[in-house]
Amino acid sequence: MTSPDGLRPVDVLTVAAVADVTPSVRRVLLTGTAAAVAAAGPTVNLLVPRVGDPAPRWPQVARDGRIVWPIGAHGVSLRSYTARRQDPATGRLEIDFVLHGDGPAASWAAAAAPGAQLAVAGAAALGDRPAGRLLLAGDETALPAISRILAAAPEGTRGVALLEVAGPEEEQDLVAPAGVELRWLHRGTLPPGGSTLLADAVAGLDRPAGEDLFAWVAAESGAVRTVRADLRGRWGLGRAQHHAIGYWRLGRAMGG
Ligand SMILES: Cc1cc2nc3c(=O)[nH]c(=O)nc-3n(C[C@H](O)[C@H](O)[C@H](O)COP(=O)(O)OP(=O)(O)OC[C@H]3O[C@@H](n4cnc5c(N)ncnc54)[C@H](O)[C@@H]3O)c2cc1C
Repeated sequence: MTSPDGLRPVDVLTVAAVADVTPSVRRVLLTGTAAAVAAAGPTVNLLVPRVGDPAPRWPQVARDGRIVWPIGAHGVSLRSYTARRQDPATGRLEIDFVLHGDGPAASWAAAAAPGAQLAVAGAAALGDRPAGRLLLAGDETALPAISRILAAAPEGTRGVALLEVAGPEEEQDLVAPAGVELRWLHRGTLPPGGSTLLADAVAGLDRPAGEDLFAWVAAESGAVRTVRADLRGRWGLGRAQHHAIGYWRLGRAMGG
């Protein structure tokens, strides 16, 4: 309900189940009202309480969607995530968290158990666009988005998905059109954000002929910057033909 000052409460969701999809990806099933789940994605602003905080002070949301934080300590961090699946009819929302070891969101996911709560405040599109030929490139943080893009692609779609993960144990089953090749790239002993696998793989691709083409890229910011430059330069892609954004920054916290 909106208060006289135009502020409404954030949507609070409750953890129903937690499962490890791979050694470094934890899937958290959240439940909430149909309206909250419908509004929470595909990209979602998560409000993550500090682990062990029994009473986080949630912010509120202004009419224009702005998040209005309480004054003083509140124990809540804002991070962007992807609803891997959302089903308003059953009030279920799935989020895959990379357990990278540091940071409020990864720590929250590592400790998540049924009954725990987090909140959502606003959502955005993935930035993808249907095209006859797709180039998708991302690391573990982008797999939820890439899985949605592939699942939504019409059967006749062609292209390649370049997927950087630590090793074979981190590969996931993805539903994709038969004409889209899934190419898993293994970082091995290199740390996340420490490889040039995605940039090298894109550099090794010839630009497909024609203009019915879309490239979607998300990974560590430095890797994305290199790939973006290649797609804009060598491939000559205009703004409407690609979406390339850093999903995280090596050595830097995201959000507030
Ligand atoms: C639109 C969007 C959608 C996203 N969707 C997802 C998603 O579905 N699942 C998901 O797991 N992530 C996703 N991310 C990435 C996620 O928001 C970041 O990884 C974020 O930094 C995690 O917050 P944190 O509190 O755990 O760590 P922060 O407090 O932000 O960072 C703490 C430290 O951890 C490091 N770090 C952050 N992420 C990683 C990582 N993946 N690997 C290694 N080190 C890291 C930082 O460099 C920093 O040193 C998405 C990002 C965006 C912008």
